[in-house]
Amino acid sequence: MKGILDAATVAISCPGCRHKTEKTLGWLQANNEMTCPRCDFVFGLADDELQTRIAGADKILGSLHRKIRSFGKKR
Ligand SMILES: [Zn+2]
Repeated sequence: MKGILDAATVAISCPGCRHKTEKTLGWLQANNEMTCPRCDFVFGLADDELQTRIAGADKILGSLHRKIRSFGKKR
């Protein structure tokens, strides 16, 4: 299960140019900041706005979890 969560991706919006970059949760846990590939803007990954973005991933993970459970029932 841990591997599935680490591979789940969230889209991080660059504060500078709004470019969205998909990162895995595993990558986010291992890094404190990221560089926008579009404008080279370096921003921290601990600000409140980003926490909100990551929190949004909970919904994705929740639906993923339900899929896994329903998948298990069908089998
Ligand atoms: Zn940018």
